[in-house]
Amino acid sequence: MTFRFCPKCGERLTLKPMGDDGDTPFCEKCGNPWFEMFSSAVIVLVVNEFGEAALLRQNYISEKFRNLVSGYMKPGETAEETVRREVLEEIGVEMTDLRLVGTYWFAKKDMLMIGFIGKAKKADFTFSQEVDGAEWIPVEDAIKLVHPKGSVSYALLDEYLKRSISAKFIEKIKPIKWFENSGTSTDKYLLVRSVYDAYDNWNAKYLEVWEPPICLLEKLAVEIIGSDALDDIFDTVSFAIDEDIWREWTAFRERGLSEQSGLDEEIVDMVKRDLCWAAVEYVLNRTGFFTALLEIYKDGYFPCGWDGVYPNGRAAVM
Ligand SMILES: [Zn+2]
Repeated sequence: MTFRFCPKCGERLTLKPMGDDGDTPFCEKCGNPWFEMFSSAVIVLVVNEFGEAALLRQNYISEKFRNLVSGYMKPGETAEETVRREVLEEIGVEMTDLRLVGTYWFAKKDMLMIGFIGKAKKADFTFSQEVDGAEWIPVEDAIKLVHPKGSVSYALLDEYLKRSISAKFIEKIKPIKWFENSGTSTDKYLLVRSVYDAYDNWNAKYLEVWEPPICLLEKLAVEIIGSDALDDIFDTVSFAIDEDIWREWTAFRERGLSEQSGLDEEIVDMVKRDLCWAAVEYVLNRTGFFTALLEIYKDGYFPCGWDGVYPNGRAAVM
C-alpha cells in the first residue's frame, strides 16, 4: 500500500529522494518518510507428540480446504508472541516448543507471512469464534487437506515431513560404533593401514567409484525433493553426527595410528558426505550405493576406496 496523505496529520505527501530507496512519499509537516506498507502475519503448524497436526475448519477462509493457525501481528508483539497468542486464542492449546521455519510473501493480500512449526501436547481444543472446528490429523494426511503446493500451509507440512524423515535416519545411524574395527584385519574388506595410503593411493579409485552414484543421486534428489531440501538434509545430518564422528575418529587415531597426517578434516568430511548421501537415499525411499556403504560403517570400518573393478571386488577400508 502506497501512502498519498500523511497517516499522522493528513497532509498531502510529496516525493523526496531517499538514498537507495529512490523517490519516497514524504510529509513536509512531520518530516517523516512513509514507505510502502504491508501487513505481517504468522502461520504455525502445531504438531503433537503423535505426529498429528492441528487442522482448522474456517469456513470464512475456505469451505474446501483446512487451515493452520494463523493471525495478524499486533504492534509491539514479536512474531513468537503472536504465534503463542493466536494458538491459545484459536484452539486453546499451549505450545511447548516453537521454531521459525521461514518467511513467505503472500501476494494476494500484500502480506508477509512468518512461518513456524510448534509442538504441543495432544489435548482437546477450545475454539474461538473464528474457528468452526479443528482436529488432530496425521501430518501425512493433513498435507492433502490444506491448500495445495504453493501455499504456506503446504510448505510447512512438507518441511515437517522432510525433517521427520531426516530425524528418523539420524536415529537409525546413532547406534553405529564408528571406526570400532578400524585397523583390525578382516577377510571381508581390504584393510588399509595408513591415512596417507587411504587418501593418496586410493583417492583416484575413490573418485572413480564414488562420483557416478553421487551425480546420479544428486540429479534424482533435485528432481524429486528440490535443491533446498537436499541442502537441508546435508545440514541436518552433518550437524547431528559431526561430534560423534570426530570423537570416534580421534579415538581410533589415538589407539591405532602413529602418523600425524593432517588429513583428519578430509577424512571426517568423506565420512559425513557418505552418510548424508545415505540419508538422501533414505529420504527418497530407495537403496543404493550409499545404503550399501552404511553396512561397512556398521561393521566398524571406514570405506576409503575400492579394490577391483566396481561392482566386483571389495571395499578398501580403514
Ligand atoms: Zn504528517
